[in-house]
Amino acid sequence: MSFESLALHPLLVDQLLKQGFTKPYDIQQRAIPEILKNNDLLGIAATGSGKTASYVLPLLSRFKQAKQSKDRKVNVLVLVPTRELAVQVNEVFQLFSSALPHAVKTMAVFGGVSINPQMKALYGVNILVATPGRLLELKESNAVELGSIETLVLDEADKMLNLGFKDEMDRIFKLLPQKRQNLLFSATLNENIDGLQKVLLNHPTVINIAPTHDTPDLINQMAYAVSDERKGPLLRYLIKTEELNQVLVFVSSIQRADNVANKLRANGIDAWPIHSKKSQGARTDLITKFKYGKLRVLVATDLLARGIDIEFLPCVVNYELPRSPKDYIHRIGRTGRAENPGKAISLITPDEQHHFGVIQKKIGKSIDVVESKDFDLKGF
Ligand code: AMP
Repeated sequence: MSFESLALHPLLVDQLLKQGFTKPYDIQQRAIPEILKNNDLLGIAATGSGKTASYVLPLLSRFKQAKQSKDRKVNVLVLVPTRELAVQVNEVFQLFSSALPHAVKTMAVFGGVSINPQMKALYGVNILVATPGRLLELKESNAVELGSIETLVLDEADKMLNLGFKDEMDRIFKLLPQKRQNLLFSATLNENIDGLQKVLLNHPTVINIAPTHDTPDLINQMAYAVSDERKGPLLRYLIKTEELNQVLVFVSSIQRADNVANKLRANGIDAWPIHSKKSQGARTDLITKFKYGKLRVLVATDLLARGIDIEFLPCVVNYELPRSPKDYIHRIGRTGRAENPGKAISLITPDEQHHFGVIQKKIGKSIDVVESKDFDLKGF
């Protein structure tokens, strides 16, 4: 199947080809026609499956002309769990809307930055990408009108529920017109999502493209058994000897992120931590540098585990294991995306061995653990 056959605006198809998107991914083939038909949709699809374009393209395709009157009424609302995802989704909207002959104004709003510029800019916006809390603040200041929403998209709905946005989401739903199209995307289907779909969706088309055991085989998963004291040196040893030049390292706390990054830098490896204590500006800066290969190592907490969309990220390291197998999948899903193979390395201390066994069982995959005690880590 080709993009041409999906009844999208021809200029969007040109832009897709320019971007090197030669054929639609599975989710795009199946979701685009449904969204164009104005149907509700439940898409079970992980990050990396191409789900963003699966709703961005048909929603943009529908705008046939520029907005007539500049007001605070928004037509499409996309709710996302994190600021990073808001920025990324908006970038995809902008990339494709720039190809259209008429201006479609898209904008991202999120907390952690001053609200005033967002209030001012919310004029004539067609498509708004928002985190729930900031959207409510903007609504309370009368900076946005939600009564004309035609389509609501919930992206990474499972993550929004995990982060405790349920109340905010319910408050937002009450502000929307009854008659609208709803698109719900989630990496997993659980009871909470089931509850949400019952409230929200009207005879939805269900598209499930979750891989059978959740971890795509594009990712080469490996692990090293290591003592606590040798973890830092082993990480530096692997980065240097395996010449890992773009590595996302996951740790379990803000403090650990700072420590690991400091130690890497002290050993001549360009590394910075990214976590919720960093300002939004600093976070965006670090992601951009990392994305374009100007920063070798980014050390992140789980909050950042999803939504960082970096094409061709070759390597992810679990410096510490996440608590849930789901987070393990989300973390390693940063690599091996968009049909490019990647490597996911876990460093396992004796304390973590049992938990690592549980993770392997849950993901239905056994991962070889290499003993590292004989590695000569002197000087690392
Ligand atoms: P997503 O799941 O939306 O985060 O997309 C994952 C990655 O796949 C992004 O980097 C997209 O740019 C890329 N992508 C999405 N659709 C296609 C396609 N049809 N062909 C090639 N790359 C794509």
